Amino acid sequence: AKASGRGVSRFFEPGIESKLYARLELERDLRAALAAEQFELAYQPVFDLVADRVCGFEALIRWPHPERGLVSPAEFIPLAEETELIGEIGAFVLNRACADAARLPGDVRIAVNLSPVQLRTDDIVDAVASALQRSGLDPRRLELEITESALLEDNERIATLLERLRGLGTRLVLDDFGTGYSSLSYLRRFPFDKIKIDQSFVREMTTRSNCVAIVGAVVGLADELGMTATAEGVETADQLDLVRQVGCLEAQGYLLGRPKPILAAFELLRGAGSA
Ligand code: C2E
Ligand code: CA
Ligand code: CA
Ligand code: CA
Repeated sequence: AKASGRGVSRFFEPGIESKLYARLELERDLRAALAAEQFELAYQPVFDLVADRVCGFEALIRWPHPERGLVSPAEFIPLAEETELIGEIGAFVLNRACADAARLPGDVRIAVNLSPVQLRTDDIVDAVASALQRSGLDPRRLELEITESALLEDNERIATLLERLRGLGTRLVLDDFGTGYSSLSYLRRFPFDKIKIDQSFVREMTTRSNCVAIVGAVVGLADELGMTATAEGVETADQLDLVRQVGCLEAQGYLLGRPKPILAAFELLRGAGSA
């Protein structure tokens, strides 16, 4: 099959060539976008439910494509992960987010998503250290969000890597908590400071009482372990009520604020009157 080139395609469903072509085209565009600095960051506010103010922002990458319009990260991050582009994209996100955060007033935190692929080599430690150094951002204000899928393999190495990242003074966040294979053992093995409760649990709190119990239990667990829990994907007032009722201290979601450009994020802080 290796040498057969064109001939191979007739064994596959029709359309596979055009899918392959579309992929190659997206990959080419991704490279061009990096070179042309087309990527932007949107900032979604995170609320402290006790103080009733914005306590942080999650940086979310945006790709305004000249022809396709806004391409979702769900579409291009996986492709960037398959190619070697995620390293460069990740470095862009770290640098931009730290630089923006350093200009935000007060003790507001900034959360950056790390791809599991970025954790495959120790280069990530240098990338984070360099972003902190260049921006002058207090490392305690930087949160690194890591999904459970990053923790599946090579536990010893990952544990050491996470300790080094934490050693820089940053806070480690376990993202999409509850969606992995062994969420609890990740908490036991790795040094997390914070848990983000996956939006699938939060969304079903209003319709399934077992989801209220689960979110409540995770909040209690986080508390016992000296960590914070954030409820993700809060979309309705009823969901927010339940999140508060189970004692969750932080929340994020469309109800509280959508991801927005840095200037609008600034406005939000000014509007809330926080330092
Ligand atoms: P995530 O880290 O779990 O981020 C939360 C996603 O949920 C974001 O989607 C956010 O816009 C969306 N969201 C926030 N509140 C609500 C809500 O109330 N309802 C609903 N339905 N959605 C809500 P987004 O920006 O499209 O990002 C999707 C995923 O792409 C992220 O999931 C993250 O895994 C990845 N991603 C985004 N930016 C980056 C990045 O800079 N680097 C890496 N490696 N991954 C990124
Ligand atoms: Ca995240
Ligand atoms: Ca998440
Ligand atoms: Ca997610």
